[in-house]
Amino acid sequence: MMTALTVFLFTYFLNITLITVLYHRGLAHGAVKLTRFGRFLAKDVAVWLTGIDPKGWVCMHRLHHNHSDSALDPHSPVNSSIVGVFFDQHRSFSRVLSGLIRKKKEFTEVVSDIDFDVHWLNANKLWWLPLALHSVIGVVLGMTTSNYLLGFGYVAGMSSHPVQGWLVNSFGHAKGYQNFDLGDHSRNNTLVAWAVVGEGYQNNHHKYPASAKFSVKWYEVDVGYFLVHVLDLVGVVEYNPKLKPASLETN
Ligand SMILES: [Zn+2]
Ligand SMILES: [Zn+2]
Repeated sequence: MMTALTVFLFTYFLNITLITVLYHRGLAHGAVKLTRFGRFLAKDVAVWLTGIDPKGWVCMHRLHHNHSDSALDPHSPVNSSIVGVFFDQHRSFSRVLSGLIRKKKEFTEVVSDIDFDVHWLNANKLWWLPLALHSVIGVVLGMTTSNYLLGFGYVAGMSSHPVQGWLVNSFGHAKGYQNFDLGDHSRNNTLVAWAVVGEGYQNNHHKYPASAKFSVKWYEVDVGYFLVHVLDLVGVVEYNPKLKPASLETN
């Protein structure tokens, strides 16, 4: 049981670390700079681990920022419901990916600064391959150790991003407190922030999207910001907290 839980937690945090530091704070907002190695991880490796296309993720996420909680938001509980966001984010991601593959301007112009294409897995309709591989690895792990819970923990952790994303996209725009009145429904949800390494501080993040740090109050804990420092130490990203984006200076 403990081994299975450890494996689940490791794969769960591996997934969200790749997404929150490389895809989100790095590629989508430029709050941290990716090193050559970090770029290689984001562009070529992370899709195999998370199942999520980096360019597609960045495009859908920027559309969310551009249209937060309006009718054009790709995933907002205002347009459907807490549960509905789970399906909306999946539908929107498919639409964004196919729009990028077909070079539709409404999508390509949102990620014109991302100098690589949709990963060949998605361009060739092989989006299911990483999940299939992780399922096989999970079964092999379960059989070789006679611990099927361990195999399940591995597969659950490796395929956890849609649930992590759903927690953030739904509760982070429906339940919680606001530090800033931004005219949208973004919220700071403490439980989601703890479970999804700071991503639950949606209200703070919509106020300061270019900041690598999603917490603003002393009692808010952004583990993702700690992970930025860890990945800086090991040469995956470069982060200099003194070089704050201009948008942070006035507040
Ligand atoms: Zn948001
Ligand atoms: Zn963002």
